[in-house]
Amino acid sequence: MARKRTIVVVEDEDAIRRGIVDTLRMAGYEPVEAADGESGLEEAGRAGVDLLLLDLLLPKKDGFDVLAELRLVRPALPVIILTARGSEDDRVRGLRAGADDYVVKPFSARELLARVEAVLRRSPERPSPVVRMIAGDTTVDCARREICRGETDRATLSEMEAAILERLAAHAGRAVSREELLSCVWGLRDGTIETRAIDMHITRLRQKLAGSSSDSASEWILTVRGKGYMLGPGVTVITDGESTGDEP
Ligand code: CA
Repeated sequence: MARKRTIVVVEDEDAIRRGIVDTLRMAGYEPVEAADGESGLEEAGRAGVDLLLLDLLLPKKDGFDVLAELRLVRPALPVIILTARGSEDDRVRGLRAGADDYVVKPFSARELLARVEAVLRRSPERPSPVVRMIAGDTTVDCARREICRGETDRATLSEMEAAILERLAAHAGRAVSREELLSCVWGLRDGTIETRAIDMHITRLRQKLAGSSSDSASEWILTVRGKGYMLGPGVTVITDGESTGDEP
């Protein structure tokens, strides 16, 4: 089932923000609005988000700070900055800070959509910072959403299962609550999916990770009573370019 792409629009000028939101909605996207940097950062940090449109001059927290803080939690989220005409320094600074592209105000609906489409096309499946997870003879390839065990044993993770696992990996060493998994992995805020659904996904995940193997020595997901779920301490997490395992 094709999901509408969610785009967070952070812009403090109401008329401009409304214009962008209308344009995106007409084009079939799911826009989420924020009028200041703080709420913008909060919205952009949710996991259902596909793209951030970020103004730079914002109340409460400026766009550069939003970008810097966002990169800590969502290193791969595509970001397009909205800059004022003539402010070339801002554009350069924004791109250096990790923005993917920029649009110069005032822009036409057509121009905006062209940039949005280009960035989303360029990064439809940007690699997660977590590349691989390994425990015992089982490896999870996050980019391919594949579980590999031995030579021939393969299973595929659903988007949700992969998202849950990556969330747990990103917070290895601490328990992640069901509510956090709900809001972060699903990006839901209205509670239409109950936390019980998380338990069902976890159960399926565990089954897939265990496979036909009776070797339960490598426990992937621990239940932490009253707290939620946690990645097992025996799981080695390999991130993009580095390892958080015991390797030097
Ligand atoms: Ca502004």
